[in-house]
Amino acid sequence: MAAIKQEDFIQSVADAFQFISYYHPVDYIRNLHDAYLREQSPAAKDAMAQILINSRMAAEGHRPICQDTGIAIAFLRVGMNVQWDVHMTIQEMVDEGVRRAYTHRDNPLRASVLADPDGKRVNTKDNTPAVVHVELVPGHEVEVIVAAKGGGSENKSKFAMLLPNDNIVDWVLSVVPTMGADWCPPGLLSLGIGGTPEKAMLMAKWAMMDPINMQELLARGPKTRAEDLRIALYEKVNALGIGAQGLGGLTTVLDVKVTEFPTHAASKPVALLPNCAATRHAHFVLDGSGPAHLEPPSLDAWPKLALDFSTSKRVNVDQLAKADLSQFKAGDRLLLSGKILTGRDAAHKRLVEMIEKGEDLPVDFANRFIYYVGPVDPVRDEAVGPAGPTTSSRMDKFVEPMLAKTGLIGMIGKSERGPAATESIRKHGAMYCIAVGGAAYLVSKAIRSSKVLAFPELGMEAIYEFEVKDMPVTVAVDSQGGAVHKSGPAEWRAKIGKIPVVTA
Ligand code: SF4
Repeated sequence: MAAIKQEDFIQSVADAFQFISYYHPVDYIRNLHDAYLREQSPAAKDAMAQILINSRMAAEGHRPICQDTGIAIAFLRVGMNVQWDVHMTIQEMVDEGVRRAYTHRDNPLRASVLADPDGKRVNTKDNTPAVVHVELVPGHEVEVIVAAKGGGSENKSKFAMLLPNDNIVDWVLSVVPTMGADWCPPGLLSLGIGGTPEKAMLMAKWAMMDPINMQELLARGPKTRAEDLRIALYEKVNALGIGAQGLGGLTTVLDVKVTEFPTHAASKPVALLPNCAATRHAHFVLDGSGPAHLEPPSLDAWPKLALDFSTSKRVNVDQLAKADLSQFKAGDRLLLSGKILTGRDAAHKRLVEMIEKGEDLPVDFANRFIYYVGPVDPVRDEAVGPAGPTTSSRMDKFVEPMLAKTGLIGMIGKSERGPAATESIRKHGAMYCIAVGGAAYLVSKAIRSSKVLAFPELGMEAIYEFEVKDMPVTVAVDSQGGAVHKSGPAEWRAKIGKIPVVTA
């Protein structure tokens, strides 16, 4: 066979990362749509509809599904008889592919990778380096799987060295409720059981790239112990009632993968990795005949759904004061219009340091809402690129000083707040809303203009002012401390069945 050329490898990797930024795997869409049709919780059904509509919009517009376009991962199975016509290493070639994909002129992706992770945390600007795993196998081909994993779901990865007689189902059911909705369900869970700690983690990551096929497994019945475990976990995790975006509902996971490997007599390593609503991976094979061609899926694979805002209240945030917030209750669906500020981890850290030093803040937060977001750069006539919410719990420690010292009255993000942040919101009569994580392109269509107000050097973490029109959100913590992420799952857990769970 012909040697694999360096340029073919690099361009194939670049094309694949572009491809997965706007095309969900079709099996994810099919299974999510089926779950949407089964769903009985109105809030979860609405969240699923937004994810499906956002996905179709991303596929049509060739813009990212989610504003977090992920850390780049590449799995390679390299045939031991492959000939290479290259002068770069595999790591260098994958990185060059990632660089091309993430700095693409028509569809730039968000650079989320920071060097010096425990120090200065400096953005590498092109999302490199990728995390590359290589396995040698028999043959003349190179099989490549690329994946882009968002921080929200990666942060909820779990690992334990269980004792040999510990029960894995019990362990999973004890940790999944503590993951809350930060990993943007519905998605899938992948377990690696056995081997050593790093082997268990890697097995779980590889298996995450397999097609979603739980409904087929349920239809034909389990044939192995691992398939028994998959079904048991699928049913029991969904019985927790967490639901889409943690709002309470029938479907938290579309599938559960289980991969096993022999282990030491004293050990039972188990890794549990979630994949989120922005499940993104592509597979291709290089055999020396040229670059890979990824066939675009037919848009017929996406259902044609329409958003239903008939029960949403229209709210002009420019006219809101703290006293007005008591009219909104946890679970209310709102369409926000007016001017909102943005800020996430780095901006909050700086703001709170300035507050502690008694310095003037660069922005007036009085009677304003802040949206936790790090948008993708805009192209063509966009006011902003995909701009979905980021995980709010990372900002929990900043809630009290922001509410107490700046006059801020509202926050918008994704998933639940911790007890201290919820109590601060109640104490100050403020409000916290969620937008749907993984519906970033759809959310960005509500943003009519954008300008940077402070910290421009922070790039996507700068403080922007967005002018929004009918931005869909749900009240997640109201001014009395009512919290939809507590009431929703509890309600649906009781409806689905009675299994004991650990509360977050
Ligand atoms: S869907 Fe949620 S967890 Fe996944 S990349 Fe987007 S924001 Fe992150």
